[in-house]
Amino acid sequence: MSIADNLSSIKATLPDHVTLVAVSKTKPVADLKEAYDAGQRIFGENKIQEMTEKWEQLPKDIQWHMIGHVQTNKVKYMAPYVSLIHGVDSLKLLTEINRQAARYRKTINCLLQIHIAEEETKFGLSEEELNILLTSDEFKQMQNICIKGIMGMATFTEDEAQIKKEFTHLKTIFNHLSEQPQTTNFKPETLSMGMSGDYKIAVDCGSTMVRIGSSIFGSR
Ligand SMILES: *Cc1c(COP(=O)(O)O)cnc(C)c1O
Repeated sequence: MSIADNLSSIKATLPDHVTLVAVSKTKPVADLKEAYDAGQRIFGENKIQEMTEKWEQLPKDIQWHMIGHVQTNKVKYMAPYVSLIHGVDSLKLLTEINRQAARYRKTINCLLQIHIAEEETKFGLSEEELNILLTSDEFKQMQNICIKGIMGMATFTEDEAQIKKEFTHLKTIFNHLSEQPQTTNFKPETLSMGMSGDYKIAVDCGSTMVRIGSSIFGSR
């Protein structure tokens, strides 16, 4: 199956309210171009340098999503063009994103990453840490970022009940956020959960954005 075939068969299974991020990390520009020519406009990368090189070479109507863990000192390289940062997991990182966005007189959209998996290795905030961040004075004063929602990764397991439990937990947290009043820098509408192996479960649990790599581009 070609990249275009993979894209169309995945899209056919996604409800209209679910956005597809094509995760192109480690893949060559030619593969991204093939997906682009098939109509895909949102790509996800997890390394800033690689994403920037691809941004330079590909059409400018692509929306670039940073889905990986972000080091504070590298935010400046993607600030000019990044469209959504999925993995924001600290006030310190958010502060730097806000600072870099201000330099370009723009607003950078962010998702806060929540830790839902059993594995300790995965990044993310607890619900308590999330609430502390969102109620902090520092956050309230940030004018150049907008929190568009949350993101999470389930445990890497064959146990579907476990995955479902974790995604349901994330959806519950998202519902709590959605009930809070929106402000200029807080507009939760995106729940980013689901990858190649678990996106169907994620969609059933209320995902609005799936991040799919290997099912589109092949294994890495
Ligand atoms: C690599 C990656 C994906 C895509 O994984 P696949 O299993 O290839 O679909 C999704 N989300 C994050 C955060 C990733 O790092």
